[in-house]
Amino acid sequence: MKVLVVGGGGREHALCWAIAASPLITELFCAPGNAGIAQDATCVDIGAEDVDALVRFVQYNDIGFVVIGPEAPLVAGLADRLAEIGVKSFGPSAKAAMLEGSKGFMKDFCARHDIPTAAYGRFTDTAEAKAFVAEQGAPIVVKADGLAAGKGVIIAETVEQANTAIDDMLEGNAFGAAGSEVVIEEFLGGEEASFFALCDGETALPLVSAQDHKRVGDGDTGLNTGGMGAYSPAPIVTGAMVQTIMDDIVMPTMKGMASEGAPYQGVLYAGLMIEDGKPKLLEYNVRFGDPECQVLMMRLRSDLLPALMAAADGELADFDLRWHDEVALTVVMAANGYPGSYDKGSQIKGLNEAASDKDVTIFHAGTSPGENGEILAAGGRVLAVTALGKTVADAQTRAYRAVDAIDWPGGFCRRDIGWRAIEREQG
Ligand code: AMP
Repeated sequence: MKVLVVGGGGREHALCWAIAASPLITELFCAPGNAGIAQDATCVDIGAEDVDALVRFVQYNDIGFVVIGPEAPLVAGLADRLAEIGVKSFGPSAKAAMLEGSKGFMKDFCARHDIPTAAYGRFTDTAEAKAFVAEQGAPIVVKADGLAAGKGVIIAETVEQANTAIDDMLEGNAFGAAGSEVVIEEFLGGEEASFFALCDGETALPLVSAQDHKRVGDGDTGLNTGGMGAYSPAPIVTGAMVQTIMDDIVMPTMKGMASEGAPYQGVLYAGLMIEDGKPKLLEYNVRFGDPECQVLMMRLRSDLLPALMAAADGELADFDLRWHDEVALTVVMAANGYPGSYDKGSQIKGLNEAASDKDVTIFHAGTSPGENGEILAAGGRVLAVTALGKTVADAQTRAYRAVDAIDWPGGFCRRDIGWRAIEREQG
């Protein structure tokens, strides 16, 4: 079967790496891909958000199955457009992708279906939003309603900060149309974890948990980023916790979406805050996390492709996946300056040597090939150096050994990915 993966980041490299190993594949394409993905798939020069061009490519090249990596094409209706031409894909319809596409929709949906989440209000009017903040007090969380590439959430320590965020979004157009409505919600304490389930519209198959590091600096300090590292499993998500998450959050979501005429198919990513053994939903994502996908794919032993196809075919009920018991940990290497402005085009050397440990895989998040086959940095987050190990500490040692073998003065990484879990291990 010919398969197309849509996207060009570290998540899509991990998906291509896993799918390329499937015996079901005759040809694997990735649009637009990157220099690392080019080692596993044929890269096609079409942007992940160019829905019309993607549909044309699928039609003219007789693609049998499409795996949609990022949220933007899902929210824009790529899965629906492919269904119209009779091509199956992995990823929700535009209507079901609203779980991520609109935080207001997600909060109202949780209220309708009794899914535990922070108390909230939805506002388009600045004065009303500020009155709500005055009533609730700080800390409080202000969120842009629409997609904002992970930047639309402001944790306000004071009422003034919350008011500034409201002004920026509703009056200052800080996130464009995505910020023309805001959700203001209760600040939740606890420990965060990410949980993933494959969904076929009716059944949900739990995958494994992960924890990521969003802040740019060691000790989880500094600006928020797309994610500077991750590890799996998340120690806080015990077997009993998996059951609670499935019973209280994932299954009510599946039933709720089906009952509202938008059955959910694809991967459901629940961003959770866990306190006193009780998970609350911070957000849904309608796709794999990046870099969480990289650690999930390292731990997966089964063939990924049949599982994705079973989700699209509504046949997950009897499906099972096997996982490595080992821990996987990934360290993101980013271009100097990220998440602020950064330079592109610096050369990265030593990748082959760095990946010589069989338990290390280097996924490319933002690279492009140079004229003579060299690897050039082409994004903010550039590499995800991923290792398996018996413990988090072991996986961390291997990952940083590989990081240190990479010759790239134009980049940096955090040196403490996994620190919370390692403290626990050594506890
Ligand atoms: P979201 O995109 O909604 O997951 O928010 C991004 C990050 O903001 C989350 O990963 C949390 O660290 C934090 N966050 C979001 N909502 C809340 C909340 N209600 N209470 C505390 N932290 C939050």
